[in-house]
Amino acid sequence: MRILKFIAYSVVRHAAFVGYDELEAVDDCMDRRIAHFDLDAFYVAVERVENPKLINVPVLVGWPGARGVVATASYEARQYGCHSAQAMRQALQKCPEAIVISPNMTKYREYSDAFHEILLERTPLVEPAGLDEAYVDLSVLAANGLGEPISVAQELRQTVLNSLGLTVSVCIAGSKPTAKIGSAYVKPDGCLEIPIGTDAAFLSTLPVRTMPSVGPKFQRALLEMGINTIGELADTDSKWLEMRFGRQGLLTKKRAQAKDTSVIRHLPGQRKSISRESTFSEDLSMATDILAQLFKLSEAISNDLRDSRRAIRTISVKIRWSDFEVITRQRTLEHSVHSHKQVHPVAKDLLETELKINRSRGVRLLGIGLSNFTDEQFQLPLVSGPTERVIRDKSIETAIQKIHGKFGSDAIRRGH
Ligand SMILES: [Mg+2]
Repeated sequence: MRILKFIAYSVVRHAAFVGYDELEAVDDCMDRRIAHFDLDAFYVAVERVENPKLINVPVLVGWPGARGVVATASYEARQYGCHSAQAMRQALQKCPEAIVISPNMTKYREYSDAFHEILLERTPLVEPAGLDEAYVDLSVLAANGLGEPISVAQELRQTVLNSLGLTVSVCIAGSKPTAKIGSAYVKPDGCLEIPIGTDAAFLSTLPVRTMPSVGPKFQRALLEMGINTIGELADTDSKWLEMRFGRQGLLTKKRAQAKDTSVIRHLPGQRKSISRESTFSEDLSMATDILAQLFKLSEAISNDLRDSRRAIRTISVKIRWSDFEVITRQRTLEHSVHSHKQVHPVAKDLLETELKINRSRGVRLLGIGLSNFTDEQFQLPLVSGPTERVIRDKSIETAIQKIHGKFGSDAIRRGH
């Protein structure tokens, strides 16, 4: 168990370096706590972050025109009977005052990446499922005293809301299918933990159509047999299900019984970028305050970079102004960098340029991102002064890191 604990701890600290096999071994040996994270009305929610005038009014994100289809309907539009995959013309008949917005997939992908990154910052055991969903195995964290599932889920929900302005519904259960059904059950902006061993009881009274694997045709056939609830499906004779629906029938019964054991298929590769963001409770307008926040973010992200033991070449700064407009500015360097001392001046320069252009605007959110990882691990930069100075900087940062690890990131800060 000690070794497993060590592996699990390494998994948490150095996500990128742990193989899939080790993680499965960890997964097999404890009570599974699988969370399904699902962003609420995702496309609409992103449009609302960027344009608050869309809040509290019916919105349809989708392709306009005679042959257009609804991609996402806001909850206000859903009250009129609008829903995704509906013909836009039909949706507008039901809710003529709805505001129609064409999808901006590039923007949604950016938000989606940021959402998945937030989850990955907490644990590597993340399986993205489409742009707005992810399964996260919270068992390993809990088993190692690194956070109870429900508190980790709430913390991540808060981080997603603070950083991206999006609400996410979560259900923690013993298996992926139950967690997915549960997150739909608590939508919007809900959080539910189904206690260990009670998945089947939770599912039993829900209609069979709430199972994602039961389509309209399958549902009709089940209803004809008098099978209305997931509990009734769980009790249905296996032979009959197999004869009637083949392997799909047996698999669905297994899910109805909450006996699905599929594991999180996390991405084995290394992360392409890391980011840190802060949303302020009040908009910041003083340049000194904004720069102080950037300094903190730069320190935090440099710690993350050090943990990953890699170097990067691209640094970006994200600003959400008080009017919700978001801008990102980035710079790619000729040499790779790995420390706060190197990251901070570049980020500061990018930020100061924008603050000069936008003197009168308040800052609602500040973010910093590092990408373009290089293969060189801690390679010394060629153009930033004598080697001795670089080595000295590195040892100072290592010392600061150790203190941060022990006492938290407010304990000590470089004096410049
Ligand atoms: Mg969703």
